[in-house]
Amino acid sequence: MPSRLERYEAKYRLLAAELSRLGFVSQGSVVVRETSCGKQGCRCQADPPRRHGPYYQWSRAVKGKTVSRRLTENEAELYRSWIDNRRRLEAIVAEMEKVSAAAGKILLRQAATSARSHAAKR
Ligand SMILES: [Zn+2]
Repeated sequence: MPSRLERYEAKYRLLAAELSRLGFVSQGSVVVRETSCGKQGCRCQADPPRRHGPYYQWSRAVKGKTVSRRLTENEAELYRSWIDNRRRLEAIVAEMEKVSAAAGKILLRQAATSARSHAAKR
């Protein structure tokens, strides 16, 4: 039977391995917009309205401001996969921190025990 610490180590190695296989990452989000132009007689003003678009944008915060860039549909697909990877990256790091904290408790207890036994031998 592996010890609890060994199980934490194994779990941590799995997360690290998944991290090593992760593709490119991007911040932000892909926004899809359909718009109306306000021109009289345009299809976007008809009943029912047929709006313009869809238009794709990559939006992200830069120094507290939202910055957007227009994307083609293909570019939007790429950004979506990079953004998904970024979310997975954050989830993996959060799990690594949880496993580290749990393993850390055991290691700290072992360090305290061995410090006590060293002191007793002196
Ligand atoms: Zn229009």
